Amino acid sequence: DPAMEPEMSEEHKAALRSIKPQLLINGKFEDAASGKTFETYDPRTGEPLMTVAEAQAEDVDRAVKAARQAFDEGPWPRMSGRQRGNIMNKLATLMEKHSEELATLESLDNGKPYAVALAADVPLSVEHLRYYAGWADKIYGQTIPVEGKMTAYTLREPIGVVGQIIPWNFPLLMQAWKLGPALAPGNTVVMKVAEQTPLSALRVGELALEAGLPPGVLNIIPGDGPVAGAALASHKGINKVAFTGSTEVGRIIMRQAAENIIPVTLELGGKSACIICPDADLDEAVRGAHDALFFNHGQCCTAGSRTFVHESIYDEFVARAAKTASNRRVGDPFDRSTQQGPQVSQEQFDKILGLINKGVEEGAKLETGGKRHGDRGYFVQPTVFSNVTDDMTIAKDEIFGPVQSILKWSSVEEVIRRANDTEYGLAAGVFTKNINLANTISRALKAGTVWVNTWNQFDAGVPFGGYKTSGIGREKGEAALAHYTQTKAVYMPMAEPIT
Ligand code: NAD
Repeated sequence: DPAMEPEMSEEHKAALRSIKPQLLINGKFEDAASGKTFETYDPRTGEPLMTVAEAQAEDVDRAVKAARQAFDEGPWPRMSGRQRGNIMNKLATLMEKHSEELATLESLDNGKPYAVALAADVPLSVEHLRYYAGWADKIYGQTIPVEGKMTAYTLREPIGVVGQIIPWNFPLLMQAWKLGPALAPGNTVVMKVAEQTPLSALRVGELALEAGLPPGVLNIIPGDGPVAGAALASHKGINKVAFTGSTEVGRIIMRQAAENIIPVTLELGGKSACIICPDADLDEAVRGAHDALFFNHGQCCTAGSRTFVHESIYDEFVARAAKTASNRRVGDPFDRSTQQGPQVSQEQFDKILGLINKGVEEGAKLETGGKRHGDRGYFVQPTVFSNVTDDMTIAKDEIFGPVQSILKWSSVEEVIRRANDTEYGLAAGVFTKNINLANTISRALKAGTVWVNTWNQFDAGVPFGGYKTSGIGREKGEAALAHYTQTKAVYMPMAEPIT
């Protein structure tokens, strides 16, 4: 396609050639039984990027059966934790070796800056797998003192076949977040990757085979949400389902899990409050609130999408926030100076511009941006609104785009109440130099993560998840392992102890 030529370097083409754009089932890459395919698009141009096999219900069924066989008969849950850990470590090392290729795929498919994918998405994914590789031989139960001539202990066993559905905003990282705690205890996985961004996950699937992951342990099925995703979430053969994405689809997933009485973990939307106190270092706070919202083009479930600024510094803050946003470098993700590439898809692009218009209509003051950037692809200007009030759509709905909404507050009690006045509760944060204020506000915020004078910290060892409709359960850290193991109690009589 000549329109694509200027942006497709030899490196890009080589990375695309590294992919088998098919379904990974039982250790083999294959087409959908129906022969169906779909296109993934280059968000820089809106042109098709690659044709990928599209799983239908029959393919999902094959994948679940392969995962079942790998769990019931295969070596994965039977080998020692240490052996599993070694294979997971090998996968992490292979990913590290292929860092540039994976980062290239991530940028081509998702639109995020290559420099960010290389510095954050890939190494954080590698770290995450290593963290859970380290857990694989440390998942153990307890010996519990009981009444009578009896001994009792617990075993922590894998749950079985796990269905996992992931979104497009951090394709590699969301894959790693889901795989680490699932694989370490010996579960087998069927993973539905997002239709917008299937490429890097498929490459990781191939690297997993190279690392020695037995066939059927990791099955990857690109496809459409309501078709392949729904077939997976409602399949009678899965023992647990894990989902990251919109709250709307989370509700559907939970309903389907209820039919089969299987455990469900959900990581859903957010409308996170970033509270700027009057004593905060203004430069630090402006920069912090900017990064909290604009990181990954605003496509973060934890985006600080309600910036609450104290009235005493409001005007100055707004002026500086608008300047910072208008200086943001938007452009080709492969240009090393680019801070913001295109949004992921036409659908997201349209949704964001629609919400920006709604903001203007409802009376928010547009300080900068507000339009598409350039004339092709899914680029949106970094946008800042001031005079935003709690009842406006842009203060309530998840925009998932580069749109900062700045609200004004006057008392601590008031800002805490308003920050918590949302159905969501994923993350929140506060910028202040006053330790008492930092403690008071962080304890009072109803959110699964609170950042103080920082944002978007995601260490593999720290639990992450939502309060309220932002989700159920926790990813990362030891907490996630609890969702991927079940506890068996064993009782055994014993002779009178000799003491
Ligand atoms: P989505 O929830 O529709 O998609 C997430 C995943 O779920 C994808 O793999 C999708 O194919 C799958 N899916 C969709 N419908 C399904 C169904 N009926 N059954 C099973 N799986 C299904 O999200 P989206 O449409 O890509 O984005 C819409 C909005 O969701 C965004 O604007 C944003 O607000 C939010 N979102 C949140 C996150 C997050 O990290 N929490 C990630 C992506 C999107």
